[in-house]
Amino acid sequence: GKMNVAIDGPAGAGKSTVARLVAEALAYVYVDTGAMYRAVTLHMLRKGITPEDVTQVLQEAQKLVIDLQPDPDGQKVFCNGEEVTSEIRSREVTGIVSRYAQIEGLRTQLVDTQRQMALRKGVVMDGRDIGTTVLPDAEVKIFMTASVEERALRRFKELDPSEGLTLQQLERDIATRDRLDENREISPLRCAEDAIVLDTTEMNIHEVVDKIVSYCTM
Ligand code: C5P
Repeated sequence: GKMNVAIDGPAGAGKSTVARLVAEALAYVYVDTGAMYRAVTLHMLRKGITPEDVTQVLQEAQKLVIDLQPDPDGQKVFCNGEEVTSEIRSREVTGIVSRYAQIEGLRTQLVDTQRQMALRKGVVMDGRDIGTTVLPDAEVKIFMTASVEERALRRFKELDPSEGLTLQQLERDIATRDRLDENREISPLRCAEDAIVLDTTEMNIHEVVDKIVSYCTM
């Protein structure tokens, strides 16, 4: 029968690329939960609602329809019908998303949606709290890590040089986001007790994908 696969880990570990390829290999549905937090963040920035305005954030989030659609080059993200796939990756969104992600009521709402998406199994879901909170019963749980230097380097290589970001800036951005995600009160970034830890510092994407797929077919 079908299973659910939870993939968690810090920023830039390569979770989304790997999760997408694992889903493809198993003919499962890929769900990028980070994209949901990013879509909410983009919407709040556009509306001028700061993470401190908790009441307003929750009110706006309730009206928001986020739609994730499978696509050959990844996944398309829609926010109230508008495609925001590239906008949610901006440095502005990346720099502040972890602050919105600390809001308990927002998490409750998104976690609820995520659980519904996985009800019929056959989902590969990546994020920070999937194995611990969203899908504690997932049949396969992976915690993907890599050194912060390696993660910054991977981001650096896929970056548009016109953004003018240095490797050091990326390293700092990633470390800051990790710190916020690990230290928040509500479902912080944690490795589930029953997760398989994969340190991918010295592994390429295909080695990681093959390993995870093998856990799913054992
Ligand atoms: O995975 P990605 O880096 O796109 O996630 C962006 C941010 O969304 C994370 O840094 C984290 O603050 C938040 N997030 C979360 N829980 C998840 C997925 C993402 O808090 N399950």
